[in-house]
Amino acid sequence: MSVLAEAEVDLAAVAANLDTVAGVAGTELMAVVKADGFGHGAVPVARAALAAGATWLGVTSTGEALALRAAGFAGPVLSWLHRPDDDFGRLISADVDLGVSTVPHLHAIVEAASRSGRPATVQLKADTGLSRNGANRVDWPDLVGWARKYEVEGSVRVRGIWSHLAGADTLDGRGVGRQVAAFEEARRIARTAGLRPDLAHLANSAAALAAPATRYDLCRIGLALYGVDPFGAPGGGAYRLRAAMTLRSTVLNVKRVPAGTGVSYGPDRVTERPTTLALLPLGYADGLPRAAEGRAEVWLGGTRRPIVGRIAMDQCVVDAGDLPVAIGDPVVVFGPAPGTCLTGGGCVVRPGCAAGTAGGGCVAGPGCAAGETDAGWPTVAEWAAWARTSPHEILTGIGARVARRYRPVGR
Ligand SMILES: *Cc1c(COP(=O)(O)O)cnc(C)c1O
Repeated sequence: MSVLAEAEVDLAAVAANLDTVAGVAGTELMAVVKADGFGHGAVPVARAALAAGATWLGVTSTGEALALRAAGFAGPVLSWLHRPDDDFGRLISADVDLGVSTVPHLHAIVEAASRSGRPATVQLKADTGLSRNGANRVDWPDLVGWARKYEVEGSVRVRGIWSHLAGADTLDGRGVGRQVAAFEEARRIARTAGLRPDLAHLANSAAALAAPATRYDLCRIGLALYGVDPFGAPGGGAYRLRAAMTLRSTVLNVKRVPAGTGVSYGPDRVTERPTTLALLPLGYADGLPRAAEGRAEVWLGGTRRPIVGRIAMDQCVVDAGDLPVAIGDPVVVFGPAPGTCLTGGGCVVRPGCAAGTAGGGCVAGPGCAAGETDAGWPTVAEWAAWARTSPHEILTGIGARVARRYRPVGR
């Protein structure tokens, strides 16, 4: 590998995760591939998710939506963050469904539709408690009133009504029940205005898995698709999701140093005892959060070793202790938790646990000792905890110079 670091994306895991969510939710699924597929690559993820049965793709912006069309995806795409002066003509021509939250946006879309001579397909977004995008209770009647007027005139088609949950990450806090009630009211108001949309959707990953009342016709799946447990489990969690991304690198330099040796930036970072330091060519520009200093670990030499000193822009230093480490040794920054199934039903390959040794369950097959679960590769969820952030931020923060490599379905 001539690149300094590589994010291997297991597309079979994406497919399996989609299958898992579909089995639980029992609805159609939208694969949310915004932010370049949460850093995994929007196009390969979209392809894997659609092949596995997803019927919709979801993105936030014009550029993302048009890139999916350019890549050849002809099926339903919803995009939901637009300026009122966005290039709606191109989006309408590309047959992209537009999430609409305000009347000025709707007016602009209708204008573009009239110019292009074909109706725009819109999905009206209600704010049911998140107070971000979406029309709230005050503005919603006006939005649906205009939408109905334009629908009658033939300039728009209202395909859906939707909203997003505030307690999306945890399903606690601000009350999923209250948001479902607010969503129901928004649907009633739309119906009274004369709208008969085909679709209602509210659920993200966490809600699709655990809040049946939010499921409606379609669930929008982000985090779970990428194999991160939306409830915060360090590994695949109760639904046995499979992490899609493994971030790998190699040791670039090794040195044996005495106690009291300064490590990385800062006068206060010194070694406590004689130790071996291994240089890792990954820094915060590559997505290793500086805030994880003092807690972060990587997999090196068959075990977990701490990163010591500051994480710099391009590199960081691993304290290898007395491990016999050499230049070129592989490092895993994060990947699937031990016991996660890989293609072919094997365990994650790690010392003491050969591939293929465990059966379908994969937790502790022959060669996989119980308890190893706590000592394997770090996971995205752990990195998020170390940096006091969310797994979404870790995944979308993996930098552009980290090469993406795809492991196709069936291998
Ligand atoms: C990002 C996003 C999702 C996906 O959420 P996850 O919690 O990652 O499943 C769903 N809906 C909307 C509106 C989003 O912006």
